[in-house]
Amino acid sequence: MAILVLAEHDNASLKLDTAKVVACGQAIGGEIDVLVVGHNCDGVVSEAQKLAGVRNVLVADSASYANHLAENISELMLGIASDYEHVLAPASSFGKDVLPRVAALLDVSQLSEVIEVVSSDTFVRPIYAGSVLATVQSLDDKKVMTVRSSAFDAVALDGNAERVALTQDVAPQAEFVEQSLTESERPELGSASVVVSGGRALGNSENFALLEQLADKLGGAVGASRAAVDAGFVPNDLQVGQTGKIVAPDLYIAVGISGAIQHLAGMKDSKVIVAINKDPEAPIFQVADYGLEADLFDAVPQLLAQL
Ligand SMILES: Cc1cc2nc3c(=O)[nH]c(=O)nc-3n(C[C@H](O)[C@H](O)[C@H](O)COP(=O)(O)OP(=O)(O)OC[C@H]3O[C@@H](n4cnc5c(N)ncnc54)[C@H](O)[C@@H]3O)c2cc1C
Repeated sequence: MAILVLAEHDNASLKLDTAKVVACGQAIGGEIDVLVVGHNCDGVVSEAQKLAGVRNVLVADSASYANHLAENISELMLGIASDYEHVLAPASSFGKDVLPRVAALLDVSQLSEVIEVVSSDTFVRPIYAGSVLATVQSLDDKKVMTVRSSAFDAVALDGNAERVALTQDVAPQAEFVEQSLTESERPELGSASVVVSGGRALGNSENFALLEQLADKLGGAVGASRAAVDAGFVPNDLQVGQTGKIVAPDLYIAVGISGAIQHLAGMKDSKVIVAINKDPEAPIFQVADYGLEADLFDAVPQLLAQL
């Protein structure tokens, strides 16, 4: 059995999620190859070669892959998928962009957000915003799966995989025009070990500065509930939850967030959850390890002073 893991990277370094998806591949069992598609990405390839348990790192290095366009990557993957029973990618924006195209081109059903491997054809995945875990069996001859990386521990970096250059290039299906990125000094929300999130109770974007200070003191990222995003306090790439990012940091601090099921779907697997809310009945306290019943405008400044 052979497993292909699509690496996520920015041509400079490999995203940690890839090491977690390789761990999912190990749980399935079989020879694991990692596919690095990019341009001038030798550093990424060297990092991928160190992933424990990886046989080959397949490298498609071409200007047409520089911007990681899903249309071009999926065409390439179609050409090599015949060698593999499993095709895996992280359930990140990148993986969710590429893999459904691969599944469609292969005419198989995708298994999304896999969190546990039962056997090589049976997997556990959350449904209904994580309220229910479904065990699903795929009868397709190829299993195309996005993997929720927060459910797997990254493999060690003591491997020594072979580098294999792919020579086939694809006729570009899409052309890159421009990318506009939010620049931030803070760690990325999806991989930060500390996340400080704010809800509707913050009231406006100026008050969110309180949480930014708290996040900076703790070396963390800032997140938000959908209510805070919809009210325009913060941009929507900070949204945590069912329709936002799924995070599982070591420490999640929810400030003025009620704890709606759709929010919990994005953060309930955090190692330690702290909630600050003035309503003792707020559902967030049911998942919190530490709950502080307080007005956030008293509690957060005090916390900042103590830190
Ligand atoms: C299909 C669908 C998808 C959704 N996806 C998401 C999602 O991805 N993420 C998400 O977050 N939501 C999502 N939602 C919305 C979700 O249902 C909630 O409406 C939302 O999470 C509420 O945000 P909130 O907790 O900030 O606001 P509220 O529910 O209004 O809670 C505010 C909380 O702040 C407390 N509070 C008020 N003032 C203070 C104060 N001064 N000090 C301390 N505490 C205070 C209140 O007691 C209350 O508990 C989705 C909804 C639907 C229907």
